[in-house]
Amino acid sequence: METILSIDNLNKKYGNIQALKNVSFEIKKGNVYGILGPNGSGKSTTLGIILNVVNKTSGSFMWFEGKTDTHHALKKVGAIIERPNFYPYMTAEENLKLVCDIKGIHYDKVMEKLEVVGLLERKDSQFQTFSLGMKQRLAIASALLNDPEILILDEPTNGLDPQGIRQIRDIIKYIASLGTTILLASHLLDEVEKVCTHVVVLQKGEILYSGSVHEIMANEGFFELQSDNNSELKTLLQNHAAIDTIDEEDGKLYVFLKSPLEAAELNRYLFQNNISLQHLVKRKHSLEEQFLHLTNHK
Ligand code: ADP
Repeated sequence: METILSIDNLNKKYGNIQALKNVSFEIKKGNVYGILGPNGSGKSTTLGIILNVVNKTSGSFMWFEGKTDTHHALKKVGAIIERPNFYPYMTAEENLKLVCDIKGIHYDKVMEKLEVVGLLERKDSQFQTFSLGMKQRLAIASALLNDPEILILDEPTNGLDPQGIRQIRDIIKYIASLGTTILLASHLLDEVEKVCTHVVVLQKGEILYSGSVHEIMANEGFFELQSDNNSELKTLLQNHAAIDTIDEEDGKLYVFLKSPLEAAELNRYLFQNNISLQHLVKRKHSLEEQFLHLTNHK
C-alpha cells in the first residue's frame, strides 16, 4: 500500500515546552487516521509541522515516499487547520470560484464539491447566512477543490450542534469511501471511534498507541469481577500469568489481560483457590476504556 506520509522521530520545543517527543507514524493511502489526545497534547503542532506552517525542532517527515519535495507535495494536500476565511456577502458558489481562481482550478469542480458536502441547494446563499456546520462543510468543499490525495482536518466538529456533528462525520466517511485518505485531529474519543480506521493516541506530545482502531478494540479485553473478599481475589489475580493490571472501582475489580484468558478458565482457577464470584463479565474495550487504561498506566 502506498505511503502518503511518514513521520520519523519528530520533536518540537516551544522554548522549554516539549510539545512533541519522538513522534513517528505512517499514513497509508485509503485509510482514515485520527490523532487523538486531550487539549495541549500536540495534535495541532503535528499538523502544523507536516503542513510546513510550524518549524520542527528535530526529526523528519516525508510526503509521498519522497517523490516530490514538500512544497510540491502540499499541492496534493487539502487542509483545514483554522477557521476558514470566506467573504460573508458572497455566495457559496462565488466563494469557491474565487478559490479556484487563486489555485488555478477549473470551475467544474465547484458544483461537484458542493454536492459532496450537501450544499448544492444552498450554492446561491450568501456565506453569512450559513450555520456553523454549513460553514465547515463549505470549508471542506474548498479543501477538496483540487482533488487532494489527503484531506487534513483539525477538530472538524468543534462547536457544532449534534446534527451538525453527524453531518460532518457522515461527509468525512463519504469522502473516505471515494478513496481520499484522511487525517483528522480530535480530542473526542467517539469521533475517532466512529470515523477513523486508524488512531494515533497522543499524550503530552508522546505517542501512547498507534495502530488500527479495530486492533485497539480487539485485543485481549478485560474482566469485571466481584467477590465477598475482593482483596484476596486481587492477590490471586496478581499471581496469574495472563493478567496485566487490576483497577478497583465501586467494589468491582477491572482486570486487564496481557494474554488470552477465557471466563471459564479464570472462574475455575479462582474456584480452585476457594474464591467464588458474585459477578463475572468479560468485556472488550471500547476505545474510551482503552484510552483511559493507556493514559492511567503510563
Ligand atoms: P493540541 O492541538 O493537542 O491541543 P498543541 O499542539 O496546540 O496541542 O499544543 C501542544 C503544546 O505546545 C501545548 O503545551 C501548547 O501550550 C504548546 N504550544 C502550542 N503552540 C505554541 C506556541 N506557538 N508557543 C508556545 N507554546 C505553544
